[in-house]
Amino acid sequence: MNKLIYLDNAATTKTAQEAVDAMLPYFTEYYGNASSIYSLGAESKKAMTEAREEIAGSIGASAQEIYFTAGGSESDNWALVATAEAYESKGKHIITSKIEHHAILHTCEYLEKRGFSITYIDVDENGVLKLDELKKAIRPDTILISVMFANNEIGTIQPIKEIGEIAREHGILFHTDAVQAYGHVQTRVDELPIDMMSASGHKINGPKGIGFLYIRKGVKIRSFVHGGAQERSRRAGTENIPGIVGLAAAVKKNFANMEERNRKETELRDYLIERIEKEIPYCRLNGHRTDRLPNNVNFSFQFIEGESLLIMLDMKGICASSGSACTSGSLDPSHVLLAIGLPHEIAHGSLRMTLSEENTKEEIDFVADELKGIVERLRSMSPLYEDFIKKEEKKHVQ
Ligand SMILES: *Cc1c(COP(=O)(O)O)cnc(C)c1O
Repeated sequence: MNKLIYLDNAATTKTAQEAVDAMLPYFTEYYGNASSIYSLGAESKKAMTEAREEIAGSIGASAQEIYFTAGGSESDNWALVATAEAYESKGKHIITSKIEHHAILHTCEYLEKRGFSITYIDVDENGVLKLDELKKAIRPDTILISVMFANNEIGTIQPIKEIGEIAREHGILFHTDAVQAYGHVQTRVDELPIDMMSASGHKINGPKGIGFLYIRKGVKIRSFVHGGAQERSRRAGTENIPGIVGLAAAVKKNFANMEERNRKETELRDYLIERIEKEIPYCRLNGHRTDRLPNNVNFSFQFIEGESLLIMLDMKGICASSGSACTSGSLDPSHVLLAIGLPHEIAHGSLRMTLSEENTKEEIDFVADELKGIVERLRSMSPLYEDFIKKEEKKHVQ
C-alpha cells in the first residue's frame, strides 16, 4: 500500500469537505466583522447565530449557553480559572482525575500556585474514575469537579451521569472536557447533569483553532479574555466567523450519521483489537473494552519502545501515536498509562491508533500485518526479550 493510512484521529482529524466549502465564502465574500452594523457585518452575524443554534441543538442546550473559544485548551483553561475566581469566596478546593488532558492538569497546577487545593482522583485498571474516592474527596470548600468525558489516550468513557449526580447532590459545579467525546458519542446536557463542557472543532472534522465552552444558564463565571463585548462580554475578540461556520458544518455532518459511523468504526476497532490479541504475544489492551470510544485502539507491547514502533510504522505510511509524550528530549511515560497501573517499561511500549469512518478493512489488515512484523523485528533486537525467552524455555524444560 503506498497511500497514507491515517490512524491518529484523536490528535486531529481531516477537515470535512462540507466544512471547507461552508467556510470559504466567509474568507472571500462575507468577511465583515459581526459587530459592524452595515449589511456585510450582518451576514457574518447571521451565520454565527445559525451556527450557534446548530451547535446548541447538538447537545440539547440553548444558544445563549454556547460560548465560542479558540479550541479545547482555551475552553478547559476558562472553565477552571474563571470558576475558581468566581467561587473563591465559597471555597478553594477543586477535584479532578489523574488522567485528564494537560489542558486541565497544567491549569490545575497553575491554580495550586495561586492557593487553590486540588485533589486528583484515581482510576481503576480500565481507566474508570473511582466513584467512592470521588465521594470521599468532597469537602465543604469544594467548588468544582472536572472530569473528562472520554480519555484521549485509552478511549475510556467515564460514568458522567453518576459523577454529575454526585456533584449536584453536594451543590458543586461539574465541568467535563468532552473534546474526545463530543461528535463521537451523545453528550447531551439536557439529559446529563453537566454544568460546563469543553469541545473542539479539529477533533470532529472541523477546522483548527475553534471550539466552544458550554456554560449552563445560572453558572457564575468570569470572562477569560478581556476586551470587547463579544460572546455576551464573556470572551472578547473579533469572532472567528469562518471557524464558527466550519465547526457548525462539521457538527451537522457528524451528528447526522453518528450511529452509522459508530457502528462502522466499532466494527473496525474490534477487528483490529482481535487480530492484535490473537497474533501478537505479550501485549495488553489499554482502556475499557466496551465503555470505550468507537475509534480508539491502545496497546502496550512488552519489550518494545513505542517511539521505534512509530518510526517503523511511519516508514510503511501508517500514522499513529505513542502513549509517551516526548518532551524536550526526555522520555516521560504517559501519566494516563501510569495511572491505570502500567509499570514504566510497559507504558513505554504503547501504541495508540484512532480510526475514522474513512478507514477500510483492507487498511486495517495491512496495519495488523505490518505491526506484527515490526513487533517481531524490534523484539529480535531486544536483549531483554532474548533473556525473557531463555527463561521461558528453561521453565518449560524443568
Ligand atoms: C485535543 C484535546 C484537547 C485540546 O484541544 P485543542 O482544541 O487542541 O486545544 C483538550 N482535551 C482533550 C481531551 C483533547 O483530546
